[in-house]
Amino acid sequence: MSIDLIKSVYYELSSYFIPKKIKYKIEGECNKCGNCCREIRAEGLRNEKELKFMQLIFPHYKRFFITGKDENNNIILSCKYLNNNGECSVYDNRPKLCRDYPKKSISLNLAMPDGCGYKVIKKEFKDYL
Ligand code: SF4
Ligand code: SF4
Repeated sequence: MSIDLIKSVYYELSSYFIPKKIKYKIEGECNKCGNCCREIRAEGLRNEKELKFMQLIFPHYKRFFITGKDENNNIILSCKYLNNNGECSVYDNRPKLCRDYPKKSISLNLAMPDGCGYKVIKKEFKDYL
């Protein structure tokens, strides 16, 4: 098992049990483009075998399937519940990781999907005063 895969398991688990430490502020709003459900960069996951491992531990990952790889060799996922209008077809029952998106935690990758209406701004020291 790779270190990155262990980190992915840790981050997923910690999102349930460790209170979020806000490090970013997020501005803007969702324009319902659907790209965050269509092009999910699965940081730390490299292949089908690792995705299957995550699906075994976290059954809500079973909704995701691989569509490609990013420049860092992470797999890119899409969700089978995204409908043709770019909407979530299970919105009221979507998992925590979808409800929390975009996360304001330290693990948030600063890059948002293309076309996203949100902008992530790293907080400065003065923001905590
Ligand atoms: S990528 Fe951003 S704007 Fe598009 S659906 Fe997701 S959160 Fe909304
Ligand atoms: S369950 Fe809904 S919100 Fe979550 S990734 Fe799938 S389509 Fe998007």
